[in-house]
Amino acid sequence: MNFLEERIRRDGIIKEGNVLKVDSFLNHQMDIGLFERMGEEFRRRFAEEKIDKILTIEASGIGIACIAARYFHVPVVFAKKSKSVNIEGEMYIAEVESFTHKCKNQVIVSRKFLSPGENILIIDDFLANGCALQGLISIVTEAGANVAGIGIAIEKGFQVGGRMIRNLGYHLESLAIIDEMDAESGKLVFREQ
Ligand code: 5GP
Repeated sequence: MNFLEERIRRDGIIKEGNVLKVDSFLNHQMDIGLFERMGEEFRRRFAEEKIDKILTIEASGIGIACIAARYFHVPVVFAKKSKSVNIEGEMYIAEVESFTHKCKNQVIVSRKFLSPGENILIIDDFLANGCALQGLISIVTEAGANVAGIGIAIEKGFQVGGRMIRNLGYHLESLAIIDEMDAESGKLVFREQ
């Protein structure tokens, strides 16, 4: 078991509806020592890739992306969730369905902060059905930039996102992949990596 799997086993709470709560260390209260180990591990796993910038999505991705950026020495851009219509032409816009909140959001990134030819590492806290990632990928593609890699803290391997993203040929690295979890029995099975 790696350090993140150990932490999930210790402090993660499995909820009904395939939701894992990790708010005591990952996405509400944040354990920065843990984030540093995650940043270091992303650097190791993407050592072969040239990375110019990290792209994430508010809110839970931002902390992880910022600490990771210290290991890549690159800026972080985060996609903003917005319900308002923004001035077309100035923004890249994608539609994203939220797994946890069951609603649709537009996510936007200013055109100023993504340029053609840049190599982008996308980082997020969770991968479930892959909607958030699809939105971010479409923004990178629209900018004429390149998805150099995708780094995820926790992938729920029993949902479709991971398989879909790997089938599309992206270099996806998830620090912990959960293959099975059950709220009633507390069963939690990680994929061997
Ligand atoms: P997807 O778009 O891949 O279906 O879901 C990814 C997003 O939904 C993540 O950015 C994360 O915020 C949220 N999410 C998905 N599954 C979980 C979960 O089990 N627990 C928590 N805390 N967030 C989740």
